[in-house]
Amino acid sequence: MNDKVKDHDIRAKLGLRPIINVSGTMTALGASIIVPEAINAMAAIAPQFVEIDALHRKASPVIARLTGGEAGFVTASCASGIALAIAGAMTRDDLLAIERLPDDTRGLKTEVPIQIGHIVNYGAPVDQSIRLAGGTVVPVGTISSSYGYQLENAINERTAAALYVVSHHTVQYGMIPLKEFAAICRAKNVPVIVDAASEYDLKGFLAQGADIVIYSGHKFLGGPTTGIVAGRKDLVRAAYLQNRGVGRGMKVGKESIAGVMAALEAWEKRDHAGIRKRERQALDLWLSTLQAIPGVVAEIVPDPTNNPLDRLKLSVHPDSGFSAASLAAALATGDPPVIVRDHETERGHFYLDPCNLHPGEAEIVAGRLSGTLRSSNAARFAEAGKERNFKALLTWPD
Ligand SMILES: *Cc1c(COP(=O)(O)O)cnc(C)c1O
Repeated sequence: MNDKVKDHDIRAKLGLRPIINVSGTMTALGASIIVPEAINAMAAIAPQFVEIDALHRKASPVIARLTGGEAGFVTASCASGIALAIAGAMTRDDLLAIERLPDDTRGLKTEVPIQIGHIVNYGAPVDQSIRLAGGTVVPVGTISSSYGYQLENAINERTAAALYVVSHHTVQYGMIPLKEFAAICRAKNVPVIVDAASEYDLKGFLAQGADIVIYSGHKFLGGPTTGIVAGRKDLVRAAYLQNRGVGRGMKVGKESIAGVMAALEAWEKRDHAGIRKRERQALDLWLSTLQAIPGVVAEIVPDPTNNPLDRLKLSVHPDSGFSAASLAAALATGDPPVIVRDHETERGHFYLDPCNLHPGEAEIVAGRLSGTLRSSNAARFAEAGKERNFKALLTWPD
């Protein structure tokens, strides 16, 4: 980073490392680059008083337009949106039932079927969002396969809603397709709630029969930290009403509502083809850099859930002097720190995600890759990976 940029980088003032994010839209790294439209909207509304219900009412048609849902509202995150949508499916518009959650569920439907291959951890386990609302998790199928008859038999008169997760985190084969899942639930009058936190397709899941879909506002949309709940009006309203109950601890402020509205409108106008082109240039640069280095194999791979996003997969052979984990740790330790997508290092590879780069960073990453692989101090990074992260976490804040 040059000195002029450094002067304007708040991270230096706060004593934070100037990391480069080639990991993806990760909560632990600050999610995404918030688009200027959202930053401006947040700054504009920050000093003003507004009626929050009215502001949410203005957000609803924007969310409806982009998702094809009847209505929508903004929540603190996708994770909280899931909890509120589940709670809403349980209580509907019963204000007293809303206040009684999550432990007093007398008279409510509480069961929530979910395919076992969908019970993922995105930083927290998704089934916890069900339990947080007071729901009961009903696992369907096995880790590697689920069938329609299993879902059908999991549904009974206590079923409040069914949860479906679309994500690279889920098992990518053997699951019930959303269309079939939704048809089975519809026949039994059970609402389908889809966690599509990180998916670019804003309309497809409601179109396939989901009643509610939930996105993160701070992932590819480039909004502030938020979630977006969209879909059937009565269920959206029931989820919204949870702000008088379990949702209070997950509340969203005026700046987040205005910010994500602006991000959604910016998304409609974004130069998607131009962004893809810049991402491709970064991938091609890293590919040609790595092809010149023995001991590693690089290839461009598509996103597992068909988002219009490619990544570089870097397989690390022991001949390189590194394991995948120790190379990721070395990159994260150097100057500037480069944080890669390292959730599969035990399989001997990691990924570089180009979706969150500032101008000039692709070149810095290429330099760090070749510099690190050509250095010979791999042993320093032997204690890499998940255990090391837990150690740091459990001694926080020191
Ligand atoms: C990121 C993610 C979440 C959590 O989203 P937040 O908005 O950060 O709460 C939930 N589900 C999936 C599949 C995710 O990828």
